[in-house]
Formats: sequence, C-alpha cells, structure tokens
Amino acid sequence: MKPNCDYHMHTPLCGHAEGAPQEYAAKAVACGLEEIGFSDHAPFVVKPLPGITMKPEELPVYHKMIEDVRARFKGRLEIRIGIEADFIPGFEAKTKAMLDAYPYDYVIGSVHFIKDWGFDDPAQREKWSEHNVNAVYRDYFELLRASARTDFFNIIAHPDLVKKFGHRPTQDMTKDIEQTAKVFQETGVAVEINTSGRRKTVGEMYPALRDLTIYCKAGVPLTFGSDAHKPEEVGCDFDKAVDLAKKAGYKEYVMFKERKIYRRISL
Ligand code: ZN
Ligand code: FE
Ligand code: FE
Ligand code: ZN
Repeated sequence: MKPNCDYHMHTPLCGHAEGAPQEYAAKAVACGLEEIGFSDHAPFVVKPLPGITMKPEELPVYHKMIEDVRARFKGRLEIRIGIEADFIPGFEAKTKAMLDAYPYDYVIGSVHFIKDWGFDDPAQREKWSEHNVNAVYRDYFELLRASARTDFFNIIAHPDLVKKFGHRPTQDMTKDIEQTAKVFQETGVAVEINTSGRRKTVGEMYPALRDLTIYCKAGVPLTFGSDAHKPEEVGCDFDKAVDLAKKAGYKEYVMFKERKIYRRISL
C-alpha cells in the first residue's frame, strides 16, 4: 500500500517551482492520494532570497491560494497548509514571529545553510571544494538537532540533504545520527522520507536506509513528501518510499492537523 498523503510540495511563489496549486491537487487525486499539504519556502529571515523563498509580503497570498484550492477540492482531497522554513541560528525570534503570524497544520524545518553557505544550492556547489566533507556532515547534523530543539517545527525535512551532490564522509557518522534521532524523539518532531533525492545527483531518497532505521529505533514519527516543484512530481516514487519505510522497521506514519498528529496510519 502506498501512503495516502504527500506533505511536501511547493508553489510558484518561491520563484523556482512551476504549476498552479490546483494542478498539484489534481495530480494528487489522479494518483489516489487522500490528503496533501503545501509547504512552500518561507521568507528567508536573514535577507531577501529572490528565486529561492517567498517574500514576506507574499505570505497572505500563499494562504489565500491554499484556501482557494482547498475549497475547490472539498470532498475530493484534504488539503493542509504547511510551510518549509529554514533554521538559521541567531534568527530564532524573527523565525518564530514569522511562523506565529499565520496558522499552519505543520511546519517543516529545513537546514539548507551552514553559516551563510547554501550547501545544496547548485550555484554554490563549487564551494564544497573549500570544505572538509566530514566537518560539513557534523555541522549539518548539529544544525538538525538545534532546529528540532527550537520547538518551531513539526517535521524535519530531508534529514541527510547534505549528501545531495554525492559528497560522502570518510568517517563514520552513526553516532551523530543516533544523537540526532534521540533529540528528535525527545523534542517530538517527525522525520520525512523525501523522495526528491532520487531526482538529484545522489540518486537516492532522503534519508538513507541506515539513517531511517536509526530514526525508527528511536521512536521518531514518520511522514512522506515528494518535495514536488512541479505538479507531475506529486506522489513521486511513493511505492519505493513505502518499501524503504518498512525496511527501516516503520509500522506506521503520521498525519498532521493544526500542528498536531491527528492520525496514525499502518503501513
Ligand atoms: Zn525548493
Ligand atoms: Fe528543502
Ligand atoms: Fe521543499
Ligand atoms: Zn525541501
């Protein structure tokens, strides 16, 4: 059985996704999903990032857009409103104020930056050569733990995004992931299986089986997301995502409403 919901998808407001929300919703209905949630890139709190995140003044537009598509699909598809927000140390107050300004069904926390380096940004890819891969991985997992501890987020996105371009650590990261899983369990955040990694250089989902097994053992809840940036990516590779979840030991996944888990579905 495939998961019945996809909680990670974007809208053109971020500047690098295409297709209207109703096209994403129509694709979801066509693949037999019962529920989806939009999670576009929240305004960046440090400085404007055109083409990467929404602008603050676009937030009301975003909410209106999702309310409209929700009304259109009433009775055919449940539509949640989420958002994907970056965790930037030192900008917690600004992040909290932004996230508190509107109601969400869930907030996805992401680490796309180590200091001011967007390590997963294709335009900044060559900066990898200036870094020690092991150190980047350790910094990345430390930021994941810090983001969970903020209490701003319900789901932590693509929890090994650092592998996106195929850089692999030479040191064993098991301890770092175990520590991360423990913090996730203690702080009550869920992890997602994000299928978009299969469409990137690394060619595999986030997170890898080894990591997901550790999250499962620690008792961290699970969600599914395609990270669709175009309508046809909604629900992409969800059959393979379920296989991965089961292999890792997961028996169920969770669904969110008003920032709380409201349903648990057996796998
Ligand atoms: Zn994006
Ligand atoms: Fe992301
Ligand atoms: Fe995303
Ligand atoms: Zn994402």
